[in-house]
Amino acid sequence: MSIVHSTRPFEEDAKKALADDTLRGALRHATDLFAGRRLASIEGIDDWEDLRERGRAIKEHALFHLDRYLEEFVANGERAGVKFHWARDASEACRIVGSIAARVSARKVVKAKSMTTEEIGLNHALEGEGFEPVETDLGEWIIQLAGELPSHIIAPAIHKTKGQIAELFVDKLGIEPTDDVLQLTAAARKVLRSYFAESDLGVSGVNFGVAETGTIMIIENEGNIRMATSLPKAHVAVMGIEKLVPRFEDLEVFLRLLPRSGAGQHLTSYQSILTGPNTGGEGPDELHVVLLDNGRTGMLRREVTRQSLACIRCGACLNVCPVYQQIGGHAYGSVYPGPIGAVITPQLAPGDRSSKLPFASSLCGACRDVCPVKIDIPALLLDLRAKVSADGPALERRGFRLWAWMMRSTARYRLGAKLARLFPWAWRGRAGAWTDARELRPLARRSFRERWKRGELA
Ligand code: SF4
Repeated sequence: MSIVHSTRPFEEDAKKALADDTLRGALRHATDLFAGRRLASIEGIDDWEDLRERGRAIKEHALFHLDRYLEEFVANGERAGVKFHWARDASEACRIVGSIAARVSARKVVKAKSMTTEEIGLNHALEGEGFEPVETDLGEWIIQLAGELPSHIIAPAIHKTKGQIAELFVDKLGIEPTDDVLQLTAAARKVLRSYFAESDLGVSGVNFGVAETGTIMIIENEGNIRMATSLPKAHVAVMGIEKLVPRFEDLEVFLRLLPRSGAGQHLTSYQSILTGPNTGGEGPDELHVVLLDNGRTGMLRREVTRQSLACIRCGACLNVCPVYQQIGGHAYGSVYPGPIGAVITPQLAPGDRSSKLPFASSLCGACRDVCPVKIDIPALLLDLRAKVSADGPALERRGFRLWAWMMRSTARYRLGAKLARLFPWAWRGRAGAWTDARELRPLARRSFRERWKRGELA
């Protein structure tokens, strides 16, 4: 299963989203709220820039030596009783989780919110094998009830208004109509609690894996992950291979960076730090970690693309992106939306649809400015655009080569500008889609220098 879920052209999905005023209102409210909270939470932290540098350096180092740290992680985890599984791609990962579910005779599977399990399409695969996966994060559960996909990395139901959620609960849970948030969450809690008690398997993602101890850390606010990973008799954690950090003390850096950048919190309400199963007589009898590649080793090869793997999935770049703020997550047609989605999707799932995503950016750089691990998203977008252009129409390629050649010499530039003014019919009307939403202004009859020389500007 591909992470790209839309079969329509990106332009079509984007236009549809732009025409939806309710969606845009909900997006504006939520992204402004998150962005504002983020700013308030980092205010007064004197070493914030230093923290970002440290976060980036840790990730860069770990990614550069990933082979070594993966071996160390597995060896230490096995000593603590973890069972590891290697998955080359999404279908292999789903098969592994399905076989564990079958072995422990699970019928209901409680799931903690995880982008990696969204990436592999785990719910769909488990349903196909007769299991009943239930999302237990409130936002994820809402969109599961609605039969939709997440539209934000940390706030999956960000596109929904309170009124829409109330209608959904009336329809699916049979509650009395209400717009009281406490009543709505109480209704959700009542249903979800029974699932934890009835389930034999809990599935989660992983925020960070620690090589020196074989530990996994999962952070959250609702307590559902704590329940899903401790009540059932088995726990499977699906982890992208890039989630490793070398040392336990590295977690301190990311525990300060991630909650502040994501929801603008000083710390998330829960941090589950798990080293092996059944720690201290509590927790599941089995802990499995599925190490997922699914295209990641390909991204490791080049320095520019390697940095995409440093992402800690905080969602901050989505909240400040002028494109995401207008069209929301679904229009990207990918499990990973927003600026980071626009760079990850074409690398994990190359194709016509995903190759359009790097162009869905104004290159304003707001994403780079907020990224807690300093990923240069605009540089990545340009790199991916260049790849698309290199495979593009020959005439366009020749045109850009000519343009580059002309711009590298003052004499050639002046000659080119003169010719363009003398023969406007040779270039006007040939800018294709570029002029669909922009006006291509005619050139001035005389250049600034010519007018300066003539004393016209004095
Ligand atoms: S790219 Fe940076 S800002 Fe965006 S989700 Fe990843 S870590 Fe957060």
